[in-house]
Amino acid sequence: MSIMFSELEKYAKENKVPIILPDGIEYIENYIKENNVKNILEIGTAIAYSAIRMCSVSDDVKVTTIERNPEMISKAKENIHKFNMEDRITIIEGDALEVEVTGNYDMIFIDAAKSQYIKFFEKYTPLLNKDGVVITDNLNFHGLRENIDNIESKNLRSMMKKLNDYIEYLKNNQSFKTTFLDIGDGLGITKRND
Ligand code: SAH
Ligand code: MG
Repeated sequence: MSIMFSELEKYAKENKVPIILPDGIEYIENYIKENNVKNILEIGTAIAYSAIRMCSVSDDVKVTTIERNPEMISKAKENIHKFNMEDRITIIEGDALEVEVTGNYDMIFIDAAKSQYIKFFEKYTPLLNKDGVVITDNLNFHGLRENIDNIESKNLRSMMKKLNDYIEYLKNNQSFKTTFLDIGDGLGITKRND
């Protein structure tokens, strides 16, 4: 299995697909194991690398994953087929803020457009089970967040600001409690308050 993971990693590197960093996905895999996570909703499939790794933890893990980029969708389907996971990974094709998703999830993994994190959170947490977790990737945004004033690009700065807004939003959210981990590219681990 790990040989095939490295094939996906190689493809991602060569094609500049921003897949999750090794420490990040290892943390998530352990979380799935330790908390008996079965149903996962992922926002941002890309080539299905993280979806496949999460499914590989156990045969009874299922992932529903949302992706809007047609090229990514077709590569994701190819990879899901290679790993024989068609019956456990469902791709929902379209913009995560537009598509309709049903079901109840033990974990929601937010890993799509950084500027929309608050909207993803608000739209999808109603589908989160009582003891479920929201894991958000890239909260350090490749280490750039700490140096926001030094960033030249306007777009990048605006995205960083949105990411900071999300972090503030999580910190101030009375219904949820978030732990920020300096793992991979920065993970937010968010659970409901009792
Ligand atoms: N989770 C993947 C990486 C996802 S990269 C992994 O770790 O292996 C982010 C992906 O989110 C990109 O493929 C991008 O096309 C997709 N994306 C960004 N905004 C989106 C949106 N609003 N709806 C659906 N997909 C989105
Ligand atoms: Mg990511």
